[in-house]
Amino acid sequence: MYTMSSDDFSVHQQDCDEAGSGIPITSLPDEVTSLDDLPCSCWDEVDSFDELD
Ligand SMILES: [Zn+2]
Repeated sequence: MYTMSSDDFSVHQQDCDEAGSGIPITSLPDEVTSLDDLPCSCWDEVDSFDELD
């Protein structure tokens, strides 16, 4: 599960503080094609985009 911020529609890990009161989503949006599309620090622990669904 991930969280999409309702402020700027950025996608975060579910437990990210930056996401605030975001919208829970079960998979990444089609627009997200690489870790470069996930600039928040909550993704720093992710080594490879292939690890994500
Ligand atoms: Zn985040």
